Amino acid sequence: PHVPHADPQAGAAVKAADRAHVFHSWSAQGLIDPLAVAGAEGAYFWDYDGNRYLDFTSGLVYTNIGYQHPRVVAAIQEQAGRLATFAPAFAIEARSEAARLIAGRTPGDLDKIFFTNGGAEAVEHAVRMARLHTGRPKVLSAYRSYHGGTATAINITGDPRRWASDAGTAGVVHFWGPFLYRSPFYSATEEEECARALAHLEDTIAFEGPGTIAAVVLETVPGTAGIMTPPPGYLAGVREICDRHGIVFVLDEVMAGFGRTGRWFAAEHHGVVPDLMTFAKGVNSGYVPLGGVAISGRIAATFDKRPYPGGLTYSGHPLACAAAVATIQVMEDEKVVENAAALGENVIGPALRELAGRHPSVGEVRGTGMFWALDLVRDRETREPLVPYNATGEANAPMAAFAAACKRNGLWPFVNMNRTHVVPACNITEAEAKEGIAALDAALTVADEHTV
Ligand code: PLP
Repeated sequence: PHVPHADPQAGAAVKAADRAHVFHSWSAQGLIDPLAVAGAEGAYFWDYDGNRYLDFTSGLVYTNIGYQHPRVVAAIQEQAGRLATFAPAFAIEARSEAARLIAGRTPGDLDKIFFTNGGAEAVEHAVRMARLHTGRPKVLSAYRSYHGGTATAINITGDPRRWASDAGTAGVVHFWGPFLYRSPFYSATEEEECARALAHLEDTIAFEGPGTIAAVVLETVPGTAGIMTPPPGYLAGVREICDRHGIVFVLDEVMAGFGRTGRWFAAEHHGVVPDLMTFAKGVNSGYVPLGGVAISGRIAATFDKRPYPGGLTYSGHPLACAAAVATIQVMEDEKVVENAAALGENVIGPALRELAGRHPSVGEVRGTGMFWALDLVRDRETREPLVPYNATGEANAPMAAFAAACKRNGLWPFVNMNRTHVVPACNITEAEAKEGIAALDAALTVADEHTV
């Protein structure tokens, strides 16, 4: 990719205005030092000092076809020239076509699309639809999950970001999903973990009262919390439990959807069809904000004669929808989903397992497609994480040192707690994947210094 001349002065001006006026997400404003980015292309971005980084984060796991794809950029420009905006109550070509293409790829009869501006809003509306459809108040969701930063979404989230806003929110109950490597059920095998996790969900429902529960909301593959592919049979088991109790089954595919796992949607790996499915991110690689809820026929019918009480000024924005249409066409024409599946299975997976064989700091490698996690540990025997849960400052120093080493080697890593996730664009080449893994290899030597 093209890398412009270094221009540190321009970078300093961008940085100064940012520090003076931009209030950043999830951050102590006085303790952060955001990198000033000058440009991006494909799987790379660069700063104003002439440093180029291979992006193993896809932004926030959303640029599934990389940066500045010319067909998507052109589609946005073309739509802007034709009809830059139009209110949601009208039928607009870009919106209709995006909905048709999305519905054509979602599993089962998830054929009606409610558009939002992103993932959190999609979760808000999925929960609202489930409550109205069932007439029940409660929502069950998993610990070790992330569902977004708005009111309902953050409260069903099962990670420490919830703690700031959750005053024991009425109607939200958390349960444990399966995760064999750090099993909450002390299981020895995947089969046992699956059976115990399903029994635990049954118990939770029994004690909460099945008639009070509107929805079970799960990430198909919990992403931010550690890329924990559920054991075979788990999601089918949840589907069966929900059916038995008249509970709406919501799968959140905001991160796992649109090719990330090597299929269009992760639910396909498990042969399950939820009642509602949320999406965002990869739907248009985030070139213009877009998310949505894919709705089954049964739930859509609830709102056939009765108005759905919810909406957004920018629902199905033409620029965002034009970007989605172009992105989906690019994914088809360039076989992006197939690339994610093949590179994951033949290159990234084997290479990461090979690293685990040499680096004592790698406790477990897990994933599929372009969706991989390295669980870093201080002690492989006890599986003690490389840093404690939710560590900050000095306690987090080993992970900070690992991340700094990646960056020195030209790799921008995804780091969350004691894990690094390998989540590059789904259309990277084999050479790019190998370049990134070589940088990870060098940085893991730094993490190894913090093992017992
Ligand atoms: N759901 C999942 C599974 C996510 O990973 C995310 C974001 O990372 C969200 C919801 C929230 O999406 P957004 O940040 O677009 O609101």
